[in-house]
Amino acid sequence: MSESKVDYRSESGIPWVSRQSWRAAHQAVAYHLRRYPADLKPLNDRAQVLESCLKAVFPILDELCAASCPWCPEPCCLKASVWFDFKDLLFMHLNQLSIPPSQPKTHLKNPCCYLGSRGCRLPRINRPWICTWYICPTQTAILKKGHPAERESLEQAFSRIKSERNVLEKEYIRMIS
Ligand code: SF4
Ligand code: SF4
Repeated sequence: MSESKVDYRSESGIPWVSRQSWRAAHQAVAYHLRRYPADLKPLNDRAQVLESCLKAVFPILDELCAASCPWCPEPCCLKASVWFDFKDLLFMHLNQLSIPPSQPKTHLKNPCCYLGSRGCRLPRINRPWICTWYICPTQTAILKKGHPAERESLEQAFSRIKSERNVLEKEYIRMIS
């Protein structure tokens, strides 16, 4: 196996875990976005739609978290298998968000480096999509018990977000092909 392959994906399957490969991945996205300025408008539009879709679910997620996370006996962020994927990188660049300094973890056995004493230290909009998407059993039970409308809204919004993320990636690939 070549050294670059080892560097790109860790033993745990997490991409861009070294500082060098994390920086290189972001430089590559930024380079391609600069290279095709005339084709960027549709991509930027899609990224803004995606940002609006994400922001629309944050109040529901904040409420769910307030009702469950402070008393959680086993916070999911300690063990979660999370990382930024390519769609996350693209989304951050297109919306000119600040780029977190690294992947949340270099190995799946490690806790997330963004977990602080009061929860996640990243703004919701900067978190990996998988962190937003994950609704734990406690929160699922809260939704099932007393918030059917929020549950339905979340399901619909997550489905739209997944679809918008796919479109974003496809548009990007089409642009650079
Ligand atoms: S999302 Fe669920 S599992 Fe994770 S910290 Fe909150 S209550 Fe605990
Ligand atoms: S990035 Fe934030 S939400 Fe995601 S696992 Fe780490 S601490 Fe938890």
